[in-house]
Amino acid sequence: MVHRIAVIDKELCNPKKCPFICVNVCPINRMRKETVKKGEDGFPVISEILCTGCGICVKRCPFQAISIVNLAEELSEEKIHQYGPNSYRLYRLPAPREKTVIGLLGRNGVGKSTVINILSGLLKPNLGKTPEPSWDEVIEYFKGTALKEHFEKIVANELKVSVKPQAVYNLVNVWRGDGLTLLHMMDQRGVMDELISKLNLENSINKPVQQLSGGELQRLAIAVAAAKDADIYFFDEPSSYNDVYQRLAVAEVIMDVARTGKCVFVVEHDLTILDYLCDQVHILYGEPGVYGIVSGVMSTRAGINAFLDGYLPEENVRFRERKINFDVYAPKQESVESKTLLEYSELEKNYENFRLTVSKGKLMLGEVVGVVGANALGKTTFIKMLAGIEKPEKGIISSSSKISYKPQYISPPKGFQYVKELLDHICGSDITSVPEFNEIIVPLHVDKLFEKEISKLSGGELQKVAVVAALLQNADVYALDEPSAFIDAEDRVELAKIIQRYIRFKNKTAIVVDHDVQLIDIISDRMIIFRGEPSVLGHAESPSNKEEGMNNFLKDLKITYRRDISTGRPRINKPGSKLDRQQKEEGRYYYLARFEEKE
Ligand code: SF4
Ligand code: SF4
Repeated sequence: MVHRIAVIDKELCNPKKCPFICVNVCPINRMRKETVKKGEDGFPVISEILCTGCGICVKRCPFQAISIVNLAEELSEEKIHQYGPNSYRLYRLPAPREKTVIGLLGRNGVGKSTVINILSGLLKPNLGKTPEPSWDEVIEYFKGTALKEHFEKIVANELKVSVKPQAVYNLVNVWRGDGLTLLHMMDQRGVMDELISKLNLENSINKPVQQLSGGELQRLAIAVAAAKDADIYFFDEPSSYNDVYQRLAVAEVIMDVARTGKCVFVVEHDLTILDYLCDQVHILYGEPGVYGIVSGVMSTRAGINAFLDGYLPEENVRFRERKINFDVYAPKQESVESKTLLEYSELEKNYENFRLTVSKGKLMLGEVVGVVGANALGKTTFIKMLAGIEKPEKGIISSSSKISYKPQYISPPKGFQYVKELLDHICGSDITSVPEFNEIIVPLHVDKLFEKEISKLSGGELQKVAVVAALLQNADVYALDEPSAFIDAEDRVELAKIIQRYIRFKNKTAIVVDHDVQLIDIISDRMIIFRGEPSVLGHAESPSNKEEGMNNFLKDLKITYRRDISTGRPRINKPGSKLDRQQKEEGRYYYLARFEEKE
């Protein structure tokens, strides 16, 4: 027996341009059993009881607005929440556990935010029922599980919750003062000085929040959440905008909260950080915007490996056809045939309080150069100099190369309402008729966003559109500043592979600045390392081979990485562990072959 789900994406469904094709093509409607009809709100309504799942309406809908899915009947008993008829629904919930950091790992749109909203008491679970059940019924549903007590506390208003939301920029809309005053107000645990120091906020804490960079704002929001005295904490995407060093500092702060005996939930797409930070993991799988299922609890290593495999061994569930693998392409070797695209001498650029120096280097055709380093060392300025947007005070950039630049902070482009309209404009014809449609757009699922309004895209969707828009430009060098921001773990690996394949195939050049070590590992042929004192002095080393570059970068950070023996993914060694000490002694901070500590 199956349990049928029919979901209509009302952002995509467009009855003004479509004469209710779904109503007309449904074979069950033609048999005079009304399965699809026009609803009171002007959108179609599909009866999940009468629908046979034939899929005709899915294929015929011109806006790809309908999803029909068959799930195991047993799941219908485990429905936790449904937003409305023909809407997204969530099955199962993770249970809070004291003294534990619990990771929620899954694609964007499968329900991580719904889980957070329900567990934090912002959203009452309706168990998929109409009329909405009473709290007594909800508590009865969770009888015999740890969640019963959790919801009893929510109902009695006894559960203290602290949430670091995903969208940290909203902080500037609700707080007009400086960070110190805000943190002081929220510091119920008396830990503000410790947090300021650990999160490296000394130079920014006295500034009005409107003047903070993305990373500073993120760390302030984390400090505010960690300073509260709560029973349960939620940190939604705490790595965004932070460099590797700051990500590790944030991880330590979050682990400290759990060590005080509290339960902490973390949503994080940087797998190396999630791996380092969490004690346990739940995978959320399903179809974005359609349904989400929460897996049982797993150890972090087993959970991340299961996520990459697309298979949950304990539950015997395959949730993705293909595995995500970490086969890192052999770096493109410089040879006599390698053509130099762009060459630069030593460069220098001075601002009032900041100086950037650059060692000489060159970019080769067909290669991807990964750029890593702490924030505020001038990486963006370096790219802008190569792009001719900024001029160096000393030195020469010998190229007339055209550079396509995707900035770190992207805002929706003006003059275009829909995604397809923008992409058609960039390529000068129907985007579905150009080779890039199959090379980059379909693999990144951007075709699914064609009919969406650009201003309504989520952070991850906007990022993918911005990357595609940059790659579609007719240029020699593609400079991508933090392409992984807001993109989920699954798409990050795909994104890295697609960009590298595309650049090699087109014999172009890319410079990619990112803080996700896994993405940089997959994407880079060579690397440029930035060193210096953030906001004071930055220096870009000459491009080096990947192994040497990554080794030097991690040596600066005093971190060692190993590779998971099953998947080949990079894992951070616990500081002071046997492997950490051994690798440091050998000077091998990164590429110690496939070698795994016993867990
Ligand atoms: Fe038309 Fe598709 Fe909307 Fe049905 S769901 S009315 S076919 S756009
Ligand atoms: Fe009708 Fe088939 Fe669509 Fe179900 S899937 S609503 S039966 S056309």
